[in-house]
Amino acid sequence: VALSNPGVQALQPYQAGKPAEELERELGIRDIVKLASNENPLGPSSAAISAVQSVLSGLTRYPDSNGYYLKQALSQRFNLAANQLTLGNGSNDLLELVARAFLREGVEAVYSEYAFIVYPLVVKACGATGVRVPARDYGHDLDAMADAVTANTRVIFIANPNNPTGTCLTSQAFKRFMARIPEQVLVVLDEAYSEYTDQADTPDGLALTATYNNLIVTRTFSKAYGLAALRVGFAVANPVVTDLLNRVRQPFNVSSVAQAAAMAALADREYLARTVSLNRQGLKQMQAGLVALEVSYIPSVANFITIDCEQDALLVYQALLEQGVIVRPLGVYAMPQHLRVTLGTETENQRFLDALKKVIA
Ligand code: PMP
Repeated sequence: VALSNPGVQALQPYQAGKPAEELERELGIRDIVKLASNENPLGPSSAAISAVQSVLSGLTRYPDSNGYYLKQALSQRFNLAANQLTLGNGSNDLLELVARAFLREGVEAVYSEYAFIVYPLVVKACGATGVRVPARDYGHDLDAMADAVTANTRVIFIANPNNPTGTCLTSQAFKRFMARIPEQVLVVLDEAYSEYTDQADTPDGLALTATYNNLIVTRTFSKAYGLAALRVGFAVANPVVTDLLNRVRQPFNVSSVAQAAAMAALADREYLARTVSLNRQGLKQMQAGLVALEVSYIPSVANFITIDCEQDALLVYQALLEQGVIVRPLGVYAMPQHLRVTLGTETENQRFLDALKKVIA
């Protein structure tokens, strides 16, 4: 085939794991624990399930392409104007809209060494050049990222907290960074995991969109709101940037089922509080368990923790799989000795720790 965009030729397809049911069948294990994709172990909010059921009779109609009611709910909840909001089919969709609207061959996008894998994917897919900046202590080296900006830079991608390392930025460091970034360069602050963070001194991206015209914040309903299967996220930016993102957005990109569930999940504050509280306990349990096993890890503020196997992590991954525990190897992140483990319920976390103990013994 003739490819006009060499960036596509160089891409590696996203490596998704096999369905857990298939692994259960292959391995002959009945109760596999999946701690691989940073999903919410509580299952969805019951309010979201009821909302889904209530819209099923309307499936012959297209969804509201503008997401009027969901935007209204988000505006009220986060004190934003509706014309600051773009809805996405998951926040991955929003990252792609940024690339489609602002990148092309000949321009650059900057991201960190251990950046979320979708950033290089969307950058290269539209023919732009990705500039990968070495990390500092597994987190973003914001000074080095600002130094990497050239006249060709259009977008900088930052995840806070970062996936796959779980690191977190301070407000002061972020403000210092923004002061160094020219206004024509857009900064995407990906807050997919922000609900989990208990570090008081970290930027509140949504509020900062009022301060910085070149800031785009993305959030998702896939993690703390427990709706990964439904694919819904939102971006917040100034109205001019928002208008451009909506020009390249496919109509009807968020289903009516997803919109209804997202509104219900947003209103269920108790579910979110329970999620965050379970995660805090999980982090403590996991850290204590890893210390006891003398396994080192990268300190995390998110709903996962990345461990250092100090050997080929694929061997540990495979051995854990045989114990019925699925975690995420990080070869695509050039971290061949690390594994990322999503925090589950107390029982699931213990299953992981028990399996790890056997595997590394
Ligand atoms: N950003 C980061 C940092 C993520 O880890 C993820 C999920 N893996 C996403 C965005 C995308 O999530 P979704 O498309 O489900 O909203």
